[in-house]
Amino acid sequence: MGGAARIGRNPPGGMDVELGLVGLPRSGKSSLLALLCGGAPSGRVAVAHVPDRRLDTLAAMLHPRKVTPAHLQLTELAGLVPGRLERGERSAFFEGVRRTDALLHVVRAFEDPSLAHPSGGVDPLRDARSIEEELLLADLERVEAVAERLRKNRTRSREEERQLEALDRCAQALGDAIPVRRVGLSADEARLLTGFGLLTARSALMALNVGETELRDVADRWPELWGWAREAGILVVPCSARVESEIAGLEGEDRTAFLASYGLSETGTDRLARAAYAALGLISFLTAGEDEVRAWPITDGTTARRAAGKIHSDIERGFIRAEVAAFTDLEAVGSWKALRDRGMLRLEGKDYIVRDGDVIEFRFHV
Ligand code: GDP
Repeated sequence: MGGAARIGRNPPGGMDVELGLVGLPRSGKSSLLALLCGGAPSGRVAVAHVPDRRLDTLAAMLHPRKVTPAHLQLTELAGLVPGRLERGERSAFFEGVRRTDALLHVVRAFEDPSLAHPSGGVDPLRDARSIEEELLLADLERVEAVAERLRKNRTRSREEERQLEALDRCAQALGDAIPVRRVGLSADEARLLTGFGLLTARSALMALNVGETELRDVADRWPELWGWAREAGILVVPCSARVESEIAGLEGEDRTAFLASYGLSETGTDRLARAAYAALGLISFLTAGEDEVRAWPITDGTTARRAAGKIHSDIERGFIRAEVAAFTDLEAVGSWKALRDRGMLRLEGKDYIVRDGDVIEFRFHV
């Protein structure tokens, strides 16, 4: 997703990170929402687990009472038919998008003669593009309005001056149909623009809902769609809601064999959940106790002390140090005690930057 700074609603940290599903009516949003949360969601909001094989390994090692994966909150936004929205509907839709931290575009690529497409024939590139264009336009309107207001203010602060510069850069890009996420803003510029809720600044990925027979050769189909998505900084994850719902009814070896028959080792929804997690800039640290084995979502770059606060504010406040091991080391030697005996546990202070897959035991006083 490039190295550019990310503009979030607020720094995604704990459980409240929210992924918004957008797409045309009948693209498969409700179906995917149900599949991602592993059951029937109540309404348009659901929680998806982020699969993590490391948790299975730790659970086999420790036999905890509970295994808790990281999760994401999902919200299905109302179906959008580009070019056919009333003014009020448009702003309601954009307000919905503004409340999310990242977007999952659900794009229909499956043919089904019994299911009319709202814009005529099936054309994933046209659909993906038209939704993105609505978002680009909404951003352009907002950026221009804010810039205009700042320009009128003769007593602009130094900060507002820099805001204006960043807004002008965005306006230019948006005018050329370049989303803000591709403008290459510095971390500081991204911070200056955080409050404006720009829609195309959000990380975005695409669930390309393909037909069952297309799952095998998705890479060669729709080359223009792949090219467009790359330019727009949108990661494409092909999956078939139809196939996924068949997989959902299977377990164990049946499931593995069924996936293999499509040349897959993992379900599309698992890939989607993990891709969304990464797109949000989230990584996991792990805790491994006899009671619970758990993955904790943190933003990449979080310090040990802040990470401790994800578990409990008391641990953050009374932080003394963190005992840390890489998951791979723990897996290799087989137990925390073996790590300690071999001097492989690291003692880290409050400013240590936690890495993905760090297994941590916090020392603290209350
Ligand atoms: P939404 O309007 O975007 O929420 O779309 P839904 O998830 O409600 O799906 C609309 C219709 O398309 C439903 O009847 C689904 O069963 C059907 N559908 C969704 N995904 C697929 C698919 O991959 N293949 C086929 N053939 N039908 C699908």
